[in-house]
Amino acid sequence: MSELHTRLAEVDENIASAARRFHRDPAEITRIVVTKFHPAQLITDLSALGVRDVGENRQQELSQKREELAGLEGMRWHFIGQAQSNKARQIRAAADVVHSVDREKIATALEAAGEPGGSILDVLLQVNLTNDLGRGGAEPDDIEKLATVIAGMSTLRLRGVMAVAPLDEDPAPAFERLAGYSGLVRGVVAGATWISAGMSHDFAEAIAHGATHLRIGSAITGTRPARG
Ligand SMILES: *Cc1c(COP(=O)(O)O)cnc(C)c1O
Repeated sequence: MSELHTRLAEVDENIASAARRFHRDPAEITRIVVTKFHPAQLITDLSALGVRDVGENRQQELSQKREELAGLEGMRWHFIGQAQSNKARQIRAAADVVHSVDREKIATALEAAGEPGGSILDVLLQVNLTNDLGRGGAEPDDIEKLATVIAGMSTLRLRGVMAVAPLDEDPAPAFERLAGYSGLVRGVVAGATWISAGMSHDFAEAIAHGATHLRIGSAITGTRPARG
């Protein structure tokens, strides 16, 4: 087995065992492999190993890789980085799911980049779990209003919430708060059940608190090359 295959299998086994431990059905958990800063070839290799969901955090890199791998079928591309409204058209063209809708301006820009009667873009409402207003994510007080705005858009489908655990806090209570915010969003859009949370070092805690989508990079891909 290649090293990549070994790490992927190990992570998947750890996901399955965390799911068993917390009485979750592993079938309702999607593992997204975060491939940022790695060459497009890694995505080809992952595809050969059966990976169907990859995540990128920069629009340019996402667009380039998607173009380079245009022949690769059956891959879902998740945009997990901070979204700039002036790049909404490019994000929309390259992503199947946008995890980082955290303000009205970006929702409006993504909606404007769509076509009435055209494809529907799956989006998640990103929540800031830190006290630092400068971090990405909507403030908890703004969640319901933003969810209502997104729900009124005709080319976006609100699927749930996304967050990154704070660096300076135990992830478990942060993910517990996120589960509560997920409830607020489901109060607006009942079907918005996705919870995107959990990275290489905290996915077990995320699974314990209801994560449906894990964004796992280095534990699967190995050390990331320096930011290009
Ligand atoms: C890079 C990144 C990840 C993956 O991080 P790892 O620690 O490598 O698993 C997950 N989510 C976001 C938003 C990221 O930018």
